[in-house]
Amino acid sequence: MGTINIQGTRVIDLSQPVEPGIPVPIGFPGPQFQTYLAQSKGDIANVEIMQMSIHTATHCDAPFHFFSALQRVDELLPDCLIGPAIVVDLRGKQGSVGIEESDIARWEVDTGETIQKDDIVLLHTGHSQHWTTGEAASGYWKNGWPYLARSAVNYLASKPIRALGVESFDPDWVNPTDLASAEFPAHRTFLPKGILIIENLTNLDQIPSRRCQVIALPLKLKGCSGSPIRVIAVV
Ligand SMILES: [Zn+2]
Repeated sequence: MGTINIQGTRVIDLSQPVEPGIPVPIGFPGPQFQTYLAQSKGDIANVEIMQMSIHTATHCDAPFHFFSALQRVDELLPDCLIGPAIVVDLRGKQGSVGIEESDIARWEVDTGETIQKDDIVLLHTGHSQHWTTGEAASGYWKNGWPYLARSAVNYLASKPIRALGVESFDPDWVNPTDLASAEFPAHRTFLPKGILIIENLTNLDQIPSRRCQVIALPLKLKGCSGSPIRVIAVV
């Protein structure tokens, strides 16, 4: 993982790599790079063509993802994912298990921390340890992931927070082979309130404190439902 020093602060990369073979939801095409120009073939430069779902690897969801009348990713403010962040340690939650309001409230009592209005809330479950490429990649969702129960969704929405970041594909429980059966309480509650969702984070264990600054910049993909992002924590 890359850590660099900038004027006394440390930058921690919270982003997963984009490459063929990474975990993608069932039925979704994985990312592909195609060589367009290659110096090894005598071309003047090296250029690739990229094809993938916008909801691949570390990315953010815009309100338009679930609400066709709401903001598309290019309409978000450039600083929509820049601000104070809080890392909630929920590493006790493994596999397909719901995170309840009581789990978050207990963490706040135990640590003396309080999730504040406009916080970027990063849920540290440790699920990113299952990220891999190739045959085993489907285990990232097939074996389940910690998701937000409705009580936790309502609690975070009541603050309201600025954004929610998770290590899994999805803050909601879904049956990967039957997306239409899921209720998506996190997506359906957060997005209309302008609370953005960040999925497939990693390296949350590298953040040495419970609070940090997060910087992530969605691309101006005209009319689209989300964007790949590079997310960094500044500590
Ligand atoms: Zn998404």
